[in-house]
Amino acid sequence: MEKKELAKRCPYVKKCGACQIGEKSYEEELADKKKWVAECIGRHCGKIHDVAGMYYPYHYRNKVHAVFGRRSDKGREEVIAGTYAAGTHTIIPVKDCLIEDAQAAAIIQTVTGLIQSFGLWVYNDDTGRGLMRHVLVRKGTSTRQIMVVLVTASPEFPHKNHFVERLMERHPEITTIVQNINGKETTMVLGERNKTLYGKGYIEDVLLGLHFRISPGSFYQVNSEQTQVLYKKVIQAAGLTGTETVIDAYCGIGTIGMCMHAKAGRVVGIELNGQAVKDAKANAVRNHLEHMYFAAADATEYMTRMSQKGERADVVVMDPPRSGSTEAFVRAAVSLRPRCVIYVSCNPETLGRDLGWFAKEGYAADEAWPVDMFGFTQNLEVVVKMQPAGRRKAPR
Ligand code: SAH
Repeated sequence: MEKKELAKRCPYVKKCGACQIGEKSYEEELADKKKWVAECIGRHCGKIHDVAGMYYPYHYRNKVHAVFGRRSDKGREEVIAGTYAAGTHTIIPVKDCLIEDAQAAAIIQTVTGLIQSFGLWVYNDDTGRGLMRHVLVRKGTSTRQIMVVLVTASPEFPHKNHFVERLMERHPEITTIVQNINGKETTMVLGERNKTLYGKGYIEDVLLGLHFRISPGSFYQVNSEQTQVLYKKVIQAAGLTGTETVIDAYCGIGTIGMCMHAKAGRVVGIELNGQAVKDAKANAVRNHLEHMYFAAADATEYMTRMSQKGERADVVVMDPPRSGSTEAFVRAAVSLRPRCVIYVSCNPETLGRDLGWFAKEGYAADEAWPVDMFGFTQNLEVVVKMQPAGRRKAPR
């Protein structure tokens, strides 16, 4: 579908900051994304493949967030939910978005209506007063499980039980409801405390045949379909034979490492976020993975300690946040003398910088496989395989 058509169908496209790409077809977008990857990493990487695009680039986001606000309409105060207009604090009330899950959008509309009918106070960023701040809906694409996270400024939630009852009546498809308390003046959506109001307090999803538990604050890729395409590239690039020690650095809830487990000797996931590590450990048990280990630690410190003890790794997989990695991490990874490093990046710019650090340490990038997970936005994922320069194949 042409973007022109998208603009026609999406009334928010000009105001809302979520889709940034101009009037282009999805195919043109993919070609542009490949060019961008080449600009960022071309100087370090021998071969960049075409971007693996989505079959259907709409309604792919399994995580939908909205912020609450108020507006006056013909003298009547109304609760609204939506997204901040790009670079501002003005809320654009988005009812249905072409890239977000439609079921999640409908739930958000119901939550907004209930806040209004229960007379709950909406949080005001400027004064720091009010209760209801955000709503986050996460969905397990394969399991159809749905989690609703209601973010409040304080633990008191008047009419809580009745609110939950009414929400469940309207959306019996919801499997869990969590209250998250965030009283801080911050741009972060979630605070540290969660109270389960209904169900288990987490959802599950299935990727490449494995089950993953996802808590409110744990990182999970927003496009489950393409995540499997991405992980298959990682597995293929690593070329495992069944005996290797694999490090999954920045592992989140352990998804990448667990998907590699069947083909590896032993996998060690390293992750800083305690809630994600708890999920990861539960996931390893749930999937009966016997040679899967997790460390709640800073990846650089953990790998440095490993190499000080004389330990090695055959393959290091790394999937850092958008800000990329650090020179210290690169030195720590290389000190384990892996036969290859597989870098999974969601930001070609920091990837380019980091490949430069690896090159200085004698690891050269052979091939890159870009995978589009975020159609109609400027983001994508890239998998890069690096090997010690001596082992690198002759350029084609
Ligand atoms: N590989 C996972 C998660 C990637 S997101 C997946 O595919 O789902 C990046 C993760 O890195 C986040 O979970 C974040 O908490 C973690 N992280 C950030 N800095 C870290 C550090 N210094 N050491 C270990 N983990 C870190």
